[in-house]
Amino acid sequence: MREYLKFYIDGQWVDPTTPKTADVINPATEEVSGRISLASVADVEKAVAAAHRAFAPWSQTTREQRLELLQAIQAEYAKREKEIGEAITEEMGAPASLGGGFHIGLGAGHIATAIEVLKTFKFEERRGNTLLTKDPIGVCALITPWNWPMNQIAVKVLPALATGNTMVLKPPQLAPYSAQIFAEVLDKAGVPKGVFNMLQGSGAVVGAALSAHPRVDLVSITGSEAVGVEIAKTAAPTVKRVCQELGGKSAFIVLDDANFVANVAGATGGMMINSGQTCSAGSRLLVPKKRMAEAIAAAKEAAAAVSVGDPKGNVAMGPVVSKNQYNEVQRYIEIGIQEGAELVAGGPGRPDGLSKGYFCKPTVFANVRNDMTIAREEIFGPVLVIIGYDDIDHAVEIANDSDFGLAGYVNGADAAQCLAVARRLRTGWVSINGGFDFMAPFGGIKRSGNGREWGEHGFHEYVETKSLIEPAPAA
Ligand code: NAD
Repeated sequence: MREYLKFYIDGQWVDPTTPKTADVINPATEEVSGRISLASVADVEKAVAAAHRAFAPWSQTTREQRLELLQAIQAEYAKREKEIGEAITEEMGAPASLGGGFHIGLGAGHIATAIEVLKTFKFEERRGNTLLTKDPIGVCALITPWNWPMNQIAVKVLPALATGNTMVLKPPQLAPYSAQIFAEVLDKAGVPKGVFNMLQGSGAVVGAALSAHPRVDLVSITGSEAVGVEIAKTAAPTVKRVCQELGGKSAFIVLDDANFVANVAGATGGMMINSGQTCSAGSRLLVPKKRMAEAIAAAKEAAAAVSVGDPKGNVAMGPVVSKNQYNEVQRYIEIGIQEGAELVAGGPGRPDGLSKGYFCKPTVFANVRNDMTIAREEIFGPVLVIIGYDDIDHAVEIANDSDFGLAGYVNGADAAQCLAVARRLRTGWVSINGGFDFMAPFGGIKRSGNGREWGEHGFHEYVETKSLIEPAPAA
């Protein structure tokens, strides 16, 4: 049993102002795996006050001083990677190979990227008689989700630190363990007191109090559309910057000239990674209509090959994060069936042989219409929908016919054609034939949000441009 009952405020592990705890459930066993404290508004006041006090000195530190801290964080993180991976498996059910693999790798990748970007980031630029400086915004509230917990924490905390901000991190209540270890990493690395603070607790209390707080200058939220909207409303009276990284319903376009079976299989397997709980998942697979039967056969085989079970074991897919999430996924599978989509793999209920735990079946619907609920709403589970298109224009039209605009995928044999299709997608990020880059800005348009994280663009979220205008030189 894990017990994480203290918060990290002003460089110290402190007790809550008013003791209140919540159990953390292991989604694979449905049993209590530990306990955390839930912060109150009084704790938010303490954390924000500490971050506010620390801002003046931290914002004046040099690039070299911050680099030194980031490198110390990198070294401490490396020492704790195994523990972080195990915590992620326990808290949100990622298979050990994923928790100890891509999950911790994403965290390490964002730390390394922040170090690289900080080495050369332009904090100043002269334009004529004006000196433009990029100043830290101030106290940042960083509110993160449970689905890729270390990725989302690292991609906010490191750029915020690197650009001279102070912060309060509010990790998700469902996945609090990895965040706690991350806070220990920062403490060990010697982050000056008050620069980084962490409160565990609910969104409704801690997240809302941070969003409304007059001394918080920026809120960065990664989460659902509904919560992103709520935070923007709560933050509005204080005119702070709100960076939203929200949901998606991204199209994965397989072009006719692609290595078809391999691409459909890859897209199907990809959808099931992390039990489909990935904001940028290619959850709408677009294939030429005339090749629907081929796509169904390939997707069926790929879905059947996804092993599901105890995430501590050697499986490809663990449970979804919670009972609520399980019920949501089941609800969408039922809706898909009712709306007349063709169920070709998986379906309702748990996979055979699993009577406990929030396990879902890797599910594929084919011959889906883009106006069906399962093609429009983010399911956030292992459910892929396959939609047929007539030609490339039609594929682009379907891809863009979405309230979301986070990601896109284009796979095909002709690189120039893939790029041409990718240019036409109304999303913030498109991966072509599996492309991946830690330096590439990541974020959405439309209801997927307004933020850009990762690489140099991730730094721009945390700085304000200031003009220092000197007299123009005499002509
Ligand atoms: P969520 O919106 O329920 O919660 C996200 C965070 O917001 C949590 O820390 C939660 O406690 C907090 N919160 C909840 N209510 C709040 C309120 N009223 N005020 C302030 N904070 C509040 O999301 P989730 O279920 O944790 O994560 C899944 C969602 O996140 C999906 O929609 C997914 O697409 C999205 N997501 C987006 C990205 C991206 O980069 N665009 C990445 C990962 C996940």
